[in-house]
Amino acid sequence: MKSRRLVIGEGIISGYISIFLGSLSLLAILCFRFPELLTSPEFREVYTAHSMKTLLTATIIASFFFALLSFLLSKKKQWALIGLVICTIAIVIGGFSVQGRAVEKTSWHLGLDWLLLDLLLMAVIFVPIELVFPKNKQQPKFHDEWRTDLVYFVVSHLFIQFFGVITQQPAKLFFGWIGLNGIHTWVQSLPFVIELLFAFFITDLFQYWAHRIFHSHHYLWRFHSIHHSTQNMDWLAGSRTHFVDIFVTRSMAFIPLYVFGFSEITFNTYIVFMAIHAVLIHANTRINFGFLKYIIATPQYHHWHHCEDPKYYGKNFATIFPFIDIMFGTYYLPGNEWPAGTGLHEAHYPKGYLKQMIYPFTKSPFDDDLNMEERTER
Ligand SMILES: [Zn+2]
Ligand SMILES: [Zn+2]
Repeated sequence: MKSRRLVIGEGIISGYISIFLGSLSLLAILCFRFPELLTSPEFREVYTAHSMKTLLTATIIASFFFALLSFLLSKKKQWALIGLVICTIAIVIGGFSVQGRAVEKTSWHLGLDWLLLDLLLMAVIFVPIELVFPKNKQQPKFHDEWRTDLVYFVVSHLFIQFFGVITQQPAKLFFGWIGLNGIHTWVQSLPFVIELLFAFFITDLFQYWAHRIFHSHHYLWRFHSIHHSTQNMDWLAGSRTHFVDIFVTRSMAFIPLYVFGFSEITFNTYIVFMAIHAVLIHANTRINFGFLKYIIATPQYHHWHHCEDPKYYGKNFATIFPFIDIMFGTYYLPGNEWPAGTGLHEAHYPKGYLKQMIYPFTKSPFDDDLNMEERTER
């Protein structure tokens, strides 16, 4: 679908918001109905049934409000109507009357609660930011591949249990036999801020090298280049990551977390920060964070990593701290300049999630030019 950029005040954005919130509500009701199957035990400890019920009620009401707004503003009424229909279904199937209940522990579950809450939070933060402070003004929200990016987001959240279990294995396998209790006690006795900064630094150091190897090793580059294939950088685009890439990079980041045994508050702060920050650095926003951009990775910083011009390949591998790139000579942040374009010209991927998952195992996306894999200086 080719589409132009949406404009505030035409009633289309409000229509989409209504449909989006209504759909989340429908799925949230399923979470209340089938919590054993659809919600994650770790995440259930973070929220209460009561707070989720309040959030659900508010989401349905907000969906109704945006449907009405769209109805008033838009000449085409279809978006408002779809939004209203979804809201009505949500109420009819018990949106206002669902109750939380005791949940039995099961060995297998999906992370639909995590998916819905994270999607809602990210949309609430980043949709307004990209609307009001866009970097690339021409880029429509609903560009050609937004559905594919959404599938990546959905899969990595829904199968959180699977990703969680497999990314912990290498750390346990290699370091599980060492007595680590002494280190854990020492790390957890550090002041919170020091412990947190240390967690950020050490995981970023591991991630830096995992990321750099993905760029420099030609077979691994097949997998990571999927992440670089997006030409439309936005908050959803960062999700486009092959599961081999997710597995290796997260396993590497988990090794120091496991070895040093950070306290629960540090660990949880780290997870929340990473969930938001990883989305932020891909966002289509010109917000540049003043002097902070020299301390922490910003959209400008990471957009240079995605630069389409081969002259700038192999820069800014760090996820959090730019000084790690300075340490290893890969830092690039020219004043307030941004890359002219992002993406990969030389790679040819099939479209769609499943095809992109299988493709790098069997074929190189650089087959048009057989030497390309070897030649690219990354
Ligand atoms: Zn990369
Ligand atoms: Zn990226």
